[in-house]
Amino acid sequence: MLIICSFLAGALLVLPASAANPLVVVLDPGHDLRANPATEPIGPGSSTRKIKDGGGTRGVVSGLAEAQLNFRVALRLRLLLEAAGIRVVMTRTKTAATSIGNVVRARIANEAGAALFLRIHADGSSDPSARGTHTLYPARRRGWTDDVYAASRRAARIVQTELVRALAFPDRGLQERSDFTGFNWANVPVILVEMGFMTNATEDRLLSTKAYQQRAALGLCRGTLRSLRRSVAACG
Ligand SMILES: [Zn+2]
Repeated sequence: MLIICSFLAGALLVLPASAANPLVVVLDPGHDLRANPATEPIGPGSSTRKIKDGGGTRGVVSGLAEAQLNFRVALRLRLLLEAAGIRVVMTRTKTAATSIGNVVRARIANEAGAALFLRIHADGSSDPSARGTHTLYPARRRGWTDDVYAASRRAARIVQTELVRALAFPDRGLQERSDFTGFNWANVPVILVEMGFMTNATEDRLLSTKAYQQRAALGLCRGTLRSLRRSVAACG
């Protein structure tokens, strides 16, 4: 009996992560139905506070709320990642409430032990010609982000490449941010993608279609799996 047990224990240890102990990715579709004007500290122990959620942008042609676009892409991405054997945790499962704010979003990712905390957004600008895709990641700050800085930067680079490839929008590159509450509270690798500009008529029109939402999800799936050193073939 003992021999069988230790044999089984050994067998369990060599099972691929996807079967015995799947990697967890936390998807964070930005915003919600309503903004949240309450404030929260921008990092653990900080006296600097920022608004929990300004509410996001809106499609200049489509009229689509950013919260809704982010959510639609996240749902498509969840399906792709789950089919690839990843366990997906969502920070919200509908667009129907006041935004929970960024400390709570980060805590969800921390408690899930996320291999990647992927925050999904679309951009807005007062300049209607502004367009393109970019990806943000935390600046290094001792005690807050130094433990996740390198992995976040690497994931940002990979996901940005795959998302630009999938959407074929202009590549606005990467940006380090020290002022994002949801970054500073994260204890797991974290990035935030800005898929495109909803204030640009061309990008809004495209992003409001199911075809482009699927393209975005596919690019994010490939970027996520590559950053986790998995085969992108699983994204389909
Ligand atoms: Zn946003």
